[in-house]
Amino acid sequence: MYGNLELFIDGKWLGGDGRKGEDVINPATEKPLAHLPHASKADLDQALEAAKKGLAVWRATSAYDRCKIMRKAADLMRERYDAISKIMVLEQGKVYPEARAEVITSADIIEWYAEEGRRSYGRIVPGRGKGVRQLVVQEPIGIVAAFTPWNFPVLTPARKIGGALAAGCSLILKASEETPGACVEMVRCFADAGLPAGVLNLVFGVPAEVSEYLLAKDAIRKISFTGSIPVGKHLAALAAKGMKRTTMELGGHSPVVVFGDADPEKAADTIAAFKYRNAGQVCISPTRFYVQEDVYSRFVKRFTEYANGIKVGDGLERGITMGPMANSRRIDTMESFVNDAKAHGGRIQTGGKRRGNQGYFYEPTVITDVPDDCKVMTQEPFGPLAPVVTFKTFDEVVERANSLEYGLAAYAFTTSNATAAAIGDALESGMVGVNSIAISTPETPFGGVKESGHGSEGGIEGLGAYLVTKFISQA
Ligand code: NAD
Repeated sequence: MYGNLELFIDGKWLGGDGRKGEDVINPATEKPLAHLPHASKADLDQALEAAKKGLAVWRATSAYDRCKIMRKAADLMRERYDAISKIMVLEQGKVYPEARAEVITSADIIEWYAEEGRRSYGRIVPGRGKGVRQLVVQEPIGIVAAFTPWNFPVLTPARKIGGALAAGCSLILKASEETPGACVEMVRCFADAGLPAGVLNLVFGVPAEVSEYLLAKDAIRKISFTGSIPVGKHLAALAAKGMKRTTMELGGHSPVVVFGDADPEKAADTIAAFKYRNAGQVCISPTRFYVQEDVYSRFVKRFTEYANGIKVGDGLERGITMGPMANSRRIDTMESFVNDAKAHGGRIQTGGKRRGNQGYFYEPTVITDVPDDCKVMTQEPFGPLAPVVTFKTFDEVVERANSLEYGLAAYAFTTSNATAAAIGDALESGMVGVNSIAISTPETPFGGVKESGHGSEGGIEGLGAYLVTKFISQA
């Protein structure tokens, strides 16, 4: 079921052939699935040369023809969704329905960008002198280096590939070494759709070595990274040395504000399902729950019931609703956060420990009575932990919600239109869901503020991220 792992450079698939590499592990069993080859320096140089050639071909291809190839790739992803989804479950751990939704959504993203690339308009500005034509045109920024994480092995690459290809750029993608297989299969869809050689290159390696090598190259004009804040800061500093444009989609610690006029059971059902998606390993996962005092007990009761009803197990098994954590690092983090919460007076309403001793399974957890300054309330948990606390007033909760350096996503529940408008304005966050969790669609901007990063993926902003503006004055 698990595919062949190869690099894709200059339109050719490259296997082990004496290259260094590493094993890919199934987080549900801790057993190896396959061996992944790493790109050597010579491979990276070849990828750079290929991307230069690819850029020349692709930027000269009409937006109309680029769109056709991208749509074909999206169609192939839809045709092959079952195989790609199963590979994703094996390497990443999420449950099959979530993996399937990720593949289908990623095909939608590619298709949306394919269409939007045809609407990358410039404009004509009236000149001051007679016969002067002033043109503002959009051009592809150049070769892109993209780095994607293990939590969404197809969706995060799809956002970067979609934006870059629609704009006419070529790219070198270094996807996650821990979850490479599903991404390999997505890239295969582009190859089979007839994408010219060199336009999209896929490499793996030691992340810091690959990024440092590529970012030092003049030919790379844009970096797009999804991952943790410390790595994002490091890559942004490297990019600054060459004045390269960056899109940084980093971590979050998303507050959820449940006002006293909301239906606490309805809010709990909506947000709990979202909380435990991908075992909480989602950058926009709700992670700090502030509930107004009068509805607090009802919210905690319903939320805990939901957590208790989750079936934890191997994501390929029917009926399982939460898989394992993606790697052993996450288990260590969960244990440290829960111990710290307990030491600060936190009460475990449910969960709070690892399940079994094979596979990285951790129980859906609800913690109450924690102070605002403990680990789980201040550092991104990236796991199935839900700390729930009370608040009294609007101003107080806004101050507490905005008190961290994160600013990716935030959520609020209220039945008052005035409160809905006020909280949407008050939260310092790149995306806010008010009575809604639908904050990530192909056609809307996705991205953070403050230390959660800069730039958007998705929407017209996601296309603009791969374009440069040129002004031509013609007399
Ligand atoms: P990490 O900081 O080691 O790695 C995060 C990601 O960056 C991984 O995909 C890794 O391969 C990549 N990476 C690491 N160093 C790199 C470098 N020098 N150059 C290029 N890429 C590099 O942490 P981790 O243990 O893999 O993940 C833990 C934390 O990362 C989470 O707690 C979460 O905050 C964050 N994270 C965020 C997202 C997101 O969607 N924004 C995704 C995955 C992880």
